Amino acid sequence: MDMDQQRFQPLVIITAPSGSGKTTIVHHLLKRFPELDFSVSACTRPPRQHEVNGRDYYFLTPEAFQEKIRQGAFAEYEMVYEGKYYGTLISELERIWHNHQIPLVDIDVRGAMHLLEKYPQSLSLFIQPPSLDVLRERLIKRGSETSVSLEERLRKTAEELSYASRFHHIIYNDTLEHALSQAEAAVAPFIARMLNKEIH
Ligand code: 5GP
Repeated sequence: MDMDQQRFQPLVIITAPSGSGKTTIVHHLLKRFPELDFSVSACTRPPRQHEVNGRDYYFLTPEAFQEKIRQGAFAEYEMVYEGKYYGTLISELERIWHNHQIPLVDIDVRGAMHLLEKYPQSLSLFIQPPSLDVLRERLIKRGSETSVSLEERLRKTAEELSYASRFHHIIYNDTLEHALSQAEAAVAPFIARMLNKEIH
């Protein structure tokens, strides 16, 4: 697929601050809409417990990641956290488009802005957490972060919140049920329009 053809392909882009409940929403959408498939990103952070290479991320060494940058393998990539790279692989997007499905990408705000520019047919959702205090609590409960990385994640959240209005939909994650129904209501008509069919 050349760049011109790619430009007309759609994505569903989800961005949310760390700990905002995004993973649950992503899983729900994947189950609800078989027309979507998760685009597995590459990253250079180490896997967390229960994370599987090739399912959650492609966990790469910094050298392997650099090599992929040189090969032009990424639709976008960012240093999301200090020294840690994350990127969307063009090969993942193409695999999903070839199956006549729509890639669901879970990505930070800057990556989302790049992908929207590159693939302007895409739909973008921003998951808004109830408050920074609730986020802090959730991240502490998850227990996956050191206190430095916790502070870094919360700082990034404050920055990300200022981009929310640039997304097609803001999903308010006050209750999970509410968030899921808003996300479904945003995605269903998009899929129907893109794949030209009714969703029931
Ligand atoms: P985590 O380390 O918690 O899995 O993810 C950290 C952040 O990186 C999240 O905001 C996530 O959305 C973002 N992220 C994951 N994959 C990509 C990607 O391929 N590109 C970019 N730019 N951000 C990503």
